Amino acid sequence: METSIGVSVRDGDTLFIDGKWHAADDGRTFAVADPATGTPVGRAADAGPAETDRAIAAAAAAFGPWSRETAYRRADVLWRAHALMTERAEDLAALMTREQGKPLKAARNEVRYAADFLSWFAEEAKRVYGGSVPSGRADQRLSILRQPVGVVAGITPWNYPISMITRKVAPALAAGCTIVLKPAEQTPLCAVAVFELLAEAGLPPGAANLVTTSRPGPVGERLLDAPAVRKLTFTGSTDVGKELAARAAATMKRVSMELGGHAPMIVMDDADPVHAAKGAALVKFLNTGQACISPNRIFVHRPILDAFTDALVSRVGALVAGPGDRPGVTVGPLVDDAALAKVTAQVEDAVAKGARPLAGGERLTGDGLAAGRFFAPTVLADVDESMRIYREETFGPVAAIVPFDTEDEAVRRANDTEYGLASYVYTNDMGRAVRVSEALRFGIVGVNDINPTAAAAPFGGVGMSGLGREGGPQGIDEYLDVKLVGLAVPRSGRD
Ligand code: NAP
Repeated sequence: METSIGVSVRDGDTLFIDGKWHAADDGRTFAVADPATGTPVGRAADAGPAETDRAIAAAAAAFGPWSRETAYRRADVLWRAHALMTERAEDLAALMTREQGKPLKAARNEVRYAADFLSWFAEEAKRVYGGSVPSGRADQRLSILRQPVGVVAGITPWNYPISMITRKVAPALAAGCTIVLKPAEQTPLCAVAVFELLAEAGLPPGAANLVTTSRPGPVGERLLDAPAVRKLTFTGSTDVGKELAARAAATMKRVSMELGGHAPMIVMDDADPVHAAKGAALVKFLNTGQACISPNRIFVHRPILDAFTDALVSRVGALVAGPGDRPGVTVGPLVDDAALAKVTAQVEDAVAKGARPLAGGERLTGDGLAAGRFFAPTVLADVDESMRIYREETFGPVAAIVPFDTEDEAVRRANDTEYGLASYVYTNDMGRAVRVSEALRFGIVGVNDINPTAAAAPFGGVGMSGLGREGGPQGIDEYLDVKLVGLAVPRSGRD
């Protein structure tokens, strides 16, 4: 079905298995709604175990031929997919805004980021180098091969509905793996649009398969239990990631886990408070706070607390909430009722325990927003350890300000979390920048930088934020096994 969005949103036949589009076996579909208005965007096939098994079988059958293709041929397919994604960027962004809710400008940025993974891994396909190791024996040669792990299961979230897919599918295909992808149930149509362009780019049948479903449990179990699936790559919440990793252990799958975060931002007294507040506002309200790298605790040095807070409140006052395709809108809706309930509960808990709301603090229903799940961009002052927001991932538009007095205290409190994904520090003192960035126990540190991410750089966390890295040269390692080949070489061909 073609829509005003410009890209096909299909009509229930959203399973891509062995190179063909299918409906669910029993014809079951589920609705996809615009989170800003509640209006329907389309319907997706509701796959179950049988369709998942067929997708795994198709990926297993395609693995041999695809892994034996040259790296140059695999790179060609990814480059063509990159060209198609770039050509369709505007339509893909419009679809993302309808299905996921983010403002059009942010959706355009995400499509560019998603396309970057296709081009980056198209090039990395050609750099899967092996090696040789000096042997202690004169009659032996040792060489190292790097080979694709096999069939991969990918499970992705709704908050970055296109880039989280290319961040997995591109390195898997580049390495010579085949994949079965299960996207989030809120955003299956963005996944369909990605798979349509992969198919058009000349991917052979079975190399990448898409299973849309509203039943993640039974579909996930098939993916996790299948001995043929050799790797699980998951992006989502820590709670779900822990369950999936435990189940994947029974068949000893490789696992990559990109999980939740609770990023600290430290603003030191030598930083420019106005500049730091600008950065805090940009990264905190990005994707309505629904980003794993969103700062959840903003630690501000007491000498500049008032200047920083005033600048942040003034910036937050200029944000405009609304449907992402409305001109001038800078903050979209939350994804669903559960997200709205969680943000509301965290703000109520903090205020009850003494936090002061300086902006926002409640749901927005005026100006035609009642049908969506809009929460006013919020600033809370005087947040402390007793409050839920200090420990739980918020995933919403709430900036929580925590005052501090010394550098050591800031680092200690920033590290006082089970998560370890992104962290930020604002300082103009070089010594402090080095000390603090080395002491922060996180996979990513932004020093006066609110976007320390790129397809060419490794992204990932420590602690309960996960295992492994996506992007960069490290991103393809996750899809490769290392093989040692020992070769006995007789001293003379005639002995
Ligand atoms: P989620 O609830 O964990 O869901 C993520 C994916 O897992 C979805 O496709 C979901 O399917 C699926 N899933 C849920 N239960 C499952 C099961 N039992 N078996 C198989 N699959 C299952 O997370 P989310 O709410 O979509 O995403 C937000 C979370 O992702 C946040 O914690 C955020 O920090 C994290 N995140 C991390 C990164 C990173 O790079 N570290 C990036 C983006 C997001 P359904 O949609 O059908 O439930």
